Amino acid sequence: MPGRNISKAAELSAEEIVLRAELAADVQKLAGEIGERNMRRYSQLNAAADFIEDSFSRAGLRSRRDTYDLDGLACHNLEAEIRGSRPEIIVIGAHYDSVLGSPGANDNGTGVAALLALARRFAGKVTAPTLRFVAFANEEPPYFQTEQMGSLVYARGCKARSDQISGMISLETMGYFSDAPRSQTYPSIGVGAFYPSTGNFIGFVGNLRSRGFLHRAIRLFRQEAKLPSEGGTLPSFIPGVGWSDQWAFWQCGYPAFMMTDTAPFRYPHYHEATDTPDKLDYDRFTLVVSGVEKVIEGIASGR
Ligand SMILES: [Zn+2]
Repeated sequence: MPGRNISKAAELSAEEIVLRAELAADVQKLAGEIGERNMRRYSQLNAAADFIEDSFSRAGLRSRRDTYDLDGLACHNLEAEIRGSRPEIIVIGAHYDSVLGSPGANDNGTGVAALLALARRFAGKVTAPTLRFVAFANEEPPYFQTEQMGSLVYARGCKARSDQISGMISLETMGYFSDAPRSQTYPSIGVGAFYPSTGNFIGFVGNLRSRGFLHRAIRLFRQEAKLPSEGGTLPSFIPGVGWSDQWAFWQCGYPAFMMTDTAPFRYPHYHEATDTPDKLDYDRFTLVVSGVEKVIEGIASGR
């Protein structure tokens, strides 16, 4: 329903009001307190890792550090697993580093806050597939799409162990929405012709090989979600399509898609020092995350 206004708070259920508070607190912790976090701000990168590990632990989940070396410094992907009854694995992931010069509230404080909120909600549940909640280091340049990118290190580890990952969901920059006309742009006119020009939806973006997994997820999202959504499987050479951790899983042959507000194609503070917690729309961000919860529930119960 493009153009529909979300009346503030009124549309949030009691559970969603709790979720909203968790999301706002975790974005504030990452971007407001810890701030810029990357290899140049190594102690902040590690503070973010400690916070994520501690959050998993408070949810009752044991996490594992998938550690690798980068120029003599240890970097950590953090993984919390909910073991299912089948060998199949679903990975839910988000990068926790921020780009140089930015506190990364939307990119990617929102993805990490969503990851932690979802992990809390599935902790202790019985699922058929194994669910893995993973926070990745070093997604941003200069490591983006290189051997040092945390998600590529992680996905290759999965491949080497022959992990049966049937799909990966990349949570990337998902907290900014606008009802203004022409608030949404696209990497090319050819792509834009098929999608709305108002930036009020959440996007599902995958490569052509991930079509089946993406369509299943978007069908589940639309059954319950109270927010407009748009899905696209596009050739991975189109700018933006591979701009997050889903790319790393594609390199290893796994289906994966990104959930995003489309970042540079909508958000005026993308990769800027002004990407701060006050810029985000927490009501609509909450509706996105409660929608993803339904998607994972659906997949976990074989729908
Ligand atoms: Zn990002």
